[in-house]
Amino acid sequence: MSIFCIGRNYVAHAQELGNEVPTSAIIFMKPDTALLPASQNFSIPSFTNDLHFEGELVLRVSKKGTNLSDQHPNGIPVIEYCDAISVGIDFTARDIQNALKEKGLPWEKAKAFDNAAVLGSWHTLTPEILSGPIHYTLAKNGQTVQTGDSSLMIYPLDKILAAITTYFTIYPGDLIYTGTPAGVGPTAKGDVFEGFFEGQSVFSVKVNP
Ligand code: ZN
Repeated sequence: MSIFCIGRNYVAHAQELGNEVPTSAIIFMKPDTALLPASQNFSIPSFTNDLHFEGELVLRVSKKGTNLSDQHPNGIPVIEYCDAISVGIDFTARDIQNALKEKGLPWEKAKAFDNAAVLGSWHTLTPEILSGPIHYTLAKNGQTVQTGDSSLMIYPLDKILAAITTYFTIYPGDLIYTGTPAGVGPTAKGDVFEGFFEGQSVFSVKVNP
């Protein structure tokens, strides 16, 4: 199973970190060992002093796809290739990422470490959901810290599928983290995160003290 992730997919988030708005989709990956097992607590790794949460919409792939923009020149039907949607967290060691970015090095140490991907329970993807806009939120210790709206994505879901499958074949069971809206911030021991898809709770994760 592959975990694909999109970086800087919202203008306000790119700006809050002082990054340029991308002119082509930023894609990175996490290994399947990055998936936090359901109902397990998260532990802040010892190698970071600035762990950030990034709440994101997540898609589940249901059909093999390669070069989808060639196969669907009039637009990619997301519903044909993905069957479920949820909210997750792309945990990021921001201090490590900044040091790697400065040197032009890959981001894996900052984003692909064990348990760096939280995944909520699935909602079946429907044409109604895809007609959007899709709303989701992330709460930290009971307070909403991120509010997501799919209509603000720089690369919407069909464009994400186009970008990924230009380089990588997708398979059923693959996950796609679609980028985080503004509001990312630090994670402390003892924090509790809860993700909501269209107002419904899809996960609750405790950070070990
Ligand atoms: Zn992210």
